[in-house]
Amino acid sequence: MSQEAQPSRPFTVAVAGAGIAGLALAIALKDLPGVRVDLYERAMQLREIGASIALGPNGMRSLERLGVHNALVDTADDPEQGLSFRNASGFPMVYRHYKTGEVVSTDRSQADRGIERRHWTARYYRAHLQEALAAHVDPQQIHLNKAFAGVAWDGAANHLVITFADGTTATADLLVGADGLHSRVRTFFEPSSRPVWTGALAFRSVFPRSHVAHINDLPHEATHVWGPDRTLFFSPLGRDLYTVVGQLQFDPDAPTQATVTEEGVQLQDTVSAWAAQGNVKTLRRLYATWGPLVQRLVAAVPHTQLYPNSSSHALPTWVLSSATVPAGRVTLVGDAAHAHGGAFATGGSLALDDAWSLGASLREVLVPVLPQNKAGPSTTADRRLLLALQIYEATRKAHTDRLLQVVHAANAARVARLRASQTHTAVPETDEQLRERIRTREDPTWLHEHDVTAVFANVVRERQGRAPTEVNLDVQSKL
Ligand SMILES: Cc1cc2nc3c(=O)[nH]c(=O)nc-3n(C[C@H](O)[C@H](O)[C@H](O)COP(=O)(O)OP(=O)(O)OC[C@H]3O[C@@H](n4cnc5c(N)ncnc54)[C@H](O)[C@@H]3O)c2cc1C
Repeated sequence: MSQEAQPSRPFTVAVAGAGIAGLALAIALKDLPGVRVDLYERAMQLREIGASIALGPNGMRSLERLGVHNALVDTADDPEQGLSFRNASGFPMVYRHYKTGEVVSTDRSQADRGIERRHWTARYYRAHLQEALAAHVDPQQIHLNKAFAGVAWDGAANHLVITFADGTTATADLLVGADGLHSRVRTFFEPSSRPVWTGALAFRSVFPRSHVAHINDLPHEATHVWGPDRTLFFSPLGRDLYTVVGQLQFDPDAPTQATVTEEGVQLQDTVSAWAAQGNVKTLRRLYATWGPLVQRLVAAVPHTQLYPNSSSHALPTWVLSSATVPAGRVTLVGDAAHAHGGAFATGGSLALDDAWSLGASLREVLVPVLPQNKAGPSTTADRRLLLALQIYEATRKAHTDRLLQVVHAANAARVARLRASQTHTAVPETDEQLRERIRTREDPTWLHEHDVTAVFANVVRERQGRAPTEVNLDVQSKL
């Protein structure tokens, strides 16, 4: 970009990963004059694996702002084709007691807080959300079977040279790592940020709702059941699907505790094999002492997959650089930027907010000085690109750093409780203490109702001395 005499060429953004964040970023940058976006995805195809994913009001608003209206339709709007399920009560989540099944607590009512119904927390089968986003991206922009392996700066040509695992290369002005929790882009620049297992293991199942249709007293709402040492989540999803997720805690430093049952779930295997096939008999045994409703539910689960949970520390900066790659050319979005491990079911919403913010930052400060729009020295564009990444980081990072702090503290507390319960002198948690733990859990409102547009507008005011002019902050409109 900094060679004044070069003919105009598009400003090229290479995105590693075509998951929720990568696709949303491509949509945020769609139709921008002078900007070309290529998505490089490791998978051979956008696969139907994964289970349920929730979006809170912040994620729903970002979806709407990006123009992904097809993903806002839920099962109440269209019982068969609605993509997601929302609790009719307006409570994003209902918490029940593991033995009695009674409601002990709820998250705060969205109706009472004046949130419009179309922005209420919605639960999707992840593949449906990915499909809804992909419908807005030109398939020619998505290059499959391209796993990011490394990046270098070509100073003579003024661009990045990205290398893929198959030995091929691509060039770009900006590289965005949207390659998920185990991001290679992140660890390429910050090797110490490799995620570590938190000790939590989830049994995730998604199946046709007909499997549970016979359970007459099954609450028709997203429900989290808490017991002394494990939890069970269940909910309808869009398109007549249903999900059940069991989660239990191990000591991450004592893998000899790995064998959960005589059916033999070997934790060592499951830690390395994400989405490995689980055993429904194991799932049933894990909940065999719980109340009758839970037992009927797990008896109806036809299959399950195992997802070990991992997380990493907060990064010092999202404006990445190395001895050979200058600052202002590489950044991260989604789980790649904040490997929090899915806690609070907020990963999808954060990814959408990240993508919107990065798109808005580029639109606000970079695009107006690209040669295709206004003639101007291209060193200005270099400076503006760095400024755009700094505005993006200032909009997002403090929020996700706070999340990482909360998540690491919660993980440590769970492991400490487990270790305490395993000592000879352990005093078991009383029922009243369990209920109190449910009632005093972290209130997730600050996450699910975070207003990314307000933070972005403040950051632009601070850095530019004016309100955003290029970006429409209205939820009704496309970016
Ligand atoms: C297959 C799958 C299933 C999931 N299932 C669930 C679930 O059931 N529940 C839940 O809450 N969350 C799930 N997640 C995580 C959830 O999607 C994210 O937390 C959230 O949506 C943030 O999205 P993301 O785009 O940052 O990351 P992801 O959705 O993880 O997307 C990352 C993308 O990058 C690709 N990728 C990885 N490495 C490379 C590389 N080296 N080069 C190029 N591309 C690469 C991946 O294949 C993927 O498509 C799943 C993720 C994946 C990939």
